[in-house]
Order: sequence, then C-alpha cells, then structure tokens
Amino acid sequence: MLADSDASLARSTERSAEIEDAIATDPSQFRILTGDRPTGNLHIGHWFGSLENRVRLAEAGVETFLIIADYQVITDRDGVGPIRERVYSLLADYVAAGLDPKKITIFTHSSVPALNQLLLPFLSLVTDAELRRNPTVKSELDDTGDRPMSGLMLTYPVHQTADILFCKANLVPVGKDQLPHLEQARTVARRFDERYGRSVDDHPVFPEPEALLGRSGTILGLDGSKMSKSKNNTIELGMTADQTAKLLKRAVTDSVRHISYDPTNRPEVSNLVNLAALCLDRSPEEVAADIGDGGGGGLKKLVTEAVNERFAGHRARRADIVADPGQLSAILADGNKRANAIADDTLDEVRRAMRMVY
Ligand code: ATP
Ligand code: MG
Repeated sequence: MLADSDASLARSTERSAEIEDAIATDPSQFRILTGDRPTGNLHIGHWFGSLENRVRLAEAGVETFLIIADYQVITDRDGVGPIRERVYSLLADYVAAGLDPKKITIFTHSSVPALNQLLLPFLSLVTDAELRRNPTVKSELDDTGDRPMSGLMLTYPVHQTADILFCKANLVPVGKDQLPHLEQARTVARRFDERYGRSVDDHPVFPEPEALLGRSGTILGLDGSKMSKSKNNTIELGMTADQTAKLLKRAVTDSVRHISYDPTNRPEVSNLVNLAALCLDRSPEEVAADIGDGGGGGLKKLVTEAVNERFAGHRARRADIVADPGQLSAILADGNKRANAIADDTLDEVRRAMRMVY
C-alpha cells in the first residue's frame, strides 16, 4: 500500500518536471485552476506554499482561473463566518502579490450557478465507497474532531472536480496531499466520456486534469503545528511589521542555545530558520550557521527582520488596494462575469452530450 503510493508520488513528481518543461516551451497548451477557501486571512505559509508559484506560472504565460471557494467554507463548520471580509481579504492579497485580474479570472463559487449544477451529473459518476476512502476527506475529518461528516464534506472532492472541469482546466498546482482529489477529477472526466457521450465534434467534453506538484514543504505556525488560517497560529500577509515582531517573539523554540537546521529533531527552531532562509533566498544551513550561538533571541530577531523586509512591498501594495474597496468589487464582478460565461457554455455542452436538449 505504502509502496503503491510512493510509486504514484514518484510518477507525479516525474510528470510535474515534464510539465514544467512543456510550460517553458509552450504555456498556451495549459489552463490552470487553483484557489482557496475564505476561512481566514492568507498567511506566509500560503505565500511560500502556493501564491509565489501561482504568480510564477501566470507570468510564464499559463492562463489561470482562481476560485475563492466560499461554498467549501461550510464543509466543516456551522456558519460562514465573516465571509464578505474574508473574500475581500483574499482578493487584496492576490492582487498585491501580482496576480493580474485582467489576465486571471478571479471568481467566487456561489456566483457561478452553472458550475455548481455540474455537481449533479458528476455525483452520479462516483460511488459512496470511493468517496469514503478518499484519504484527504479522512484527514480533513480527523481535523474536525468528533464532528459528524456533512454531506458536503463527503462530496467535496466532486465539488472540486466541478471547479476544475467547468473551465476545462488541464493543470492543477497541488501539494501531495491533494493527489487523491486529482485522481477523482480524472475519474469523473473519463467516466463522463464513457457513460454520457461527447461534444458535437466527437471530442471528450472534459480533459483529464493533471497535478503540478509544488516543491515547498509545510511552514509551521507560532505554536509549532502547521500554519493554518483557521488556527490562531499565523503570520498574516497583511499584518504590520510591529504585529509580526510581537507574534514572532511568542513563537515556540527550544532550550538549546546553539542554532542548527535539523527539521527532524528540532522542528520549531528549524521552521524559523527555514522561514528566514526562504525570505532571504538563502539556504537554511547557512542561516543557522550565521546565528550560531545567538540562541532563540538571535534567531527571532533575524526571522522578524527577514519577514518584514520580504513582505514590506506586498504590505504597502495591499494597504493601497484595501483603501479602495470599489476597485476590489469591480475586479470580482468582472471575474464572476467571465466565469459565468464559461460555465454556461460548458453546461450547454454537457446537456447536449447527455441529450438533455428540449
Ligand atoms: P484552512 O484552515 O481553511 O484549512 P489553511 O491555512 O490550511 O486553511 P488551505 O486553504 O487549506 O490553507 O491551503 C491552501 C494551500 O495553501 C495548500 O494546498 C498549500 O499549498 C498552501 N498552504 C497552506 N498552509 C500552508 C503552510 N502552512 N505551509 C505551506 N503551504 C501552505
Ligand atoms: Mg487546510
């Protein structure tokens, strides 16, 4: 079992390298779908884990669709929270990071009815057993403690399939934990073709999307567990330099004075070293050696300066954008309009393939 998943990870890694080469040669053969749940403000884990990569791919010329997955907020909680503020906060970070809304279609789930309607035929193509053994669903469920699984949580990989396939994206940048979702999306695309039919020109309606694996590891939060926007352990992209300094002072370290980079035995210290290294574009070993006997205090001082320096530009741009909410709502209205046009076309094609034209 483990060997199987190791082999499949190795295959996906190899394939991702081939795709990177293909992007460098001809980015126009790809369309990317990516996105976030508006469950909180984006943090520096998102920057190094996904935002930076999205900017790189868009700048390389790959057409990109960016979903703010508002319906997926309620897979694992009882209410939507301050959803409007959170949607606008995500949008501000995207634009400040350099994701150009003229080129990238940024949209919200709930604004695109035809996308959501794809869920009905798609749900007919998966079995209850397949959904229940999805490892990502299982681990998300573990994160929510004793909370019973909602129907929306169980079917969320299929909803994600609709997010990907409504715009016929053939590439999805993911971490390795998301590979089972991609497999689910490929299965749905294939079964749709086998069971329901094709476009008028006899092409499969949907492509089988591929994963593009990111290189970055997980950034830990101030408490030493994964930095996560629904936990209270993040350094948000939009925080001030002072807020950052205060929070980093509280970050968990250990009692060994000499600073080293040893993720296995010293996860918290190594996470801070890694963070400084990422911000400074240096290797973590070098950064650790520079701090040497400076201890936790020296480490925190260096990380704070590195984070504040790295994100000063982003924060200034973000503050300007937030000061003009009219601009943000115009960006979203435009993205939603474009996403709706594409979703309507795809749903028409689905109806034709399924002979549901009356
Ligand atoms: P939530 O608490 O709602 O689950 P989250 O902060 O865990 O939010 P997600 O929306 O689950 O963020 O993550 C989206 C993507 O952002 C991930 O697939 C990953 O690529 C990246 N990411 C999130 N957190 C981190 C992190 N701590 N380190 C590195 N990458 C991260
Ligand atoms: Mg998460």
